[in-house]
Amino acid sequence: MAAAAKAPAKKEKKKAKSKGDSYKTDGGKLVRTKPVCPKCGPGVFMAAHKDRVSCGKCGYTEFGKKE
Ligand SMILES: [Zn+2]
Repeated sequence: MAAAAKAPAKKEKKKAKSKGDSYKTDGGKLVRTKPVCPKCGPGVFMAAHKDRVSCGKCGYTEFGKKE
């Protein structure tokens, strides 16, 4: 019997945090990091302002979004 090499598959990837990135890859999956409009649904991004985000489509505004 061949001894199977047991290697602990422990991969820790540190994600670089950069402002202005709309997308990031999470496990090979493309994930949107920008807030989407809860009214318009996914696909409609909200414009990030200094202390609020607003939807340019329906005008929905959300305050106090801090990171
Ligand atoms: Zn909207």
